Amino acid sequence: MTSPAYTTKSYDWGSVTPYSARLRSHELVARVRWFIQMRWIAVFMCAAGSVAAYLHILSTGLNPLYFAVITVFLVLTNLAYTIIARRLLGDENRHHSVQLLLLFQMGLDFLALSALAYACGTIETPLITLFMAHIILATLFFTRTVSLAVAGAAFLFAALPLMLEFGSIIPMVTIFKSNFKSEVLFDPKLSFTFVGGIGTTFLVCWYLVSEISASLKLREKQLEDAYEMLLRIDREKSQATLRATHELKAPFAAIKSYVYTLQDGYLGELPEKARNAITRIGDRCDRLTEKITDIIHLSNLRTVVLTDMAFSLVDVNQVLAEETREGALVGEHQGISVVLTSPMTTPAWVLGSRTQLSTMFSNLIRNAIQYSFDNGRVEVSLGATSKQICVSIRDHGIGIPEANLDKIFEEHFRSNNAVAHFTGGTGLGLPIVKEIARLHGATIQVESILGKGSVFTVCFEVKEEKIQERLS
Ligand code: ADP
Repeated sequence: MTSPAYTTKSYDWGSVTPYSARLRSHELVARVRWFIQMRWIAVFMCAAGSVAAYLHILSTGLNPLYFAVITVFLVLTNLAYTIIARRLLGDENRHHSVQLLLLFQMGLDFLALSALAYACGTIETPLITLFMAHIILATLFFTRTVSLAVAGAAFLFAALPLMLEFGSIIPMVTIFKSNFKSEVLFDPKLSFTFVGGIGTTFLVCWYLVSEISASLKLREKQLEDAYEMLLRIDREKSQATLRATHELKAPFAAIKSYVYTLQDGYLGELPEKARNAITRIGDRCDRLTEKITDIIHLSNLRTVVLTDMAFSLVDVNQVLAEETREGALVGEHQGISVVLTSPMTTPAWVLGSRTQLSTMFSNLIRNAIQYSFDNGRVEVSLGATSKQICVSIRDHGIGIPEANLDKIFEEHFRSNNAVAHFTGGTGLGLPIVKEIARLHGATIQVESILGKGSVFTVCFEVKEEKIQERLS
């Protein structure tokens, strides 16, 4: 598709998922990934510990078998999380499933940490402090009650090996040659002080971080409310502009009807000069009406971003066939042919608004016609894979100056060569295309060679699961 002489620019305006929800979901997803990565580091450390213990590199009583078992356990659980996480992470709506996955991971991590602490002589190493990382993360991602429960579970798992050793239920593990551990373990007062110390440390850690996290969450909520308020004000402002613009349409329609009356001679025969002036008034009137219609359309689209747009299954093949047919009629006057080059075999489903998609392709095809040279050719094609559906509209016209590629989607922007070629544009066609692309989470790529032509490629992500749901 890309020829080296083309200047290419890609545009991705994101999707319409509410900003705050998207942010929170992304944060959670990032944490799940982070957990998995950290666990691979733990796997490496455990494997290294196992080898070191086996080769007696450290002069300690570390048991290589314990480490090997924990390593295998971590590898298996982490592989399982990676697979589950991959399935969950693609969908932003599965916020709760991701949270459950995190909780589940924490539970199994506690088990592994508990075993690791036991293998390392429990109180002989500071390994139990690692439980605090999970307590801190729990305060950030779960409610206060759930995070307190996580802190409680952390305490139980941290104290468990020591308690079991204390009750002689499991053999005591010491890795150093000192009597420190047996002295602590066989003195109930010391043992319980130690366990109490762990509990207090975990509780203090939970309390401090949950206080900070609560105030952060409050700030986040306030920001969210302020954001919502700004959106509402913006929506009201857009509605007011929309009403005012809409009201302008009626006087223009009235002017146009007077123009017809005069042109058709109902008010008497007009001199040549007056007829020319009336024709020009009529043309200007048409252009202003077109501009008003585009402004209204653009404002409508921006308002739609804020509300929920009802998407349905749209067969892009069908929309393209219709728009190409209409484009061919428009192009006929200038001797420009508009052809659909990809054969229409199976439906190409996209979740979206049929009206908006028609407008999008219509705008792109009309631009391709407008900026073609006389007797030119516009080619419309569709390419589909299991992941995306891409529509390309290619012309062999005036092209876009490289420096202008950054600006063509801005409101009212028209490049100099476009103004010289065609005076009638509004500079609102591509901003409308941009809004529709944003609503549909589509990306656009523009390739152009000045004086030779341009290709606009719009790509939609295929949401197979949702499409199947609607089809069934
Ligand atoms: P309009 O076509 O009414 O001027 P648009 O918003 O549709 O407004 O396009 C903005 C600008 O992008 C155009 O003025 C032109 O400079 C450039 N442009 C868009 N499509 C093409 C094209 N197919 N070929 C060359 N230039 C284009």
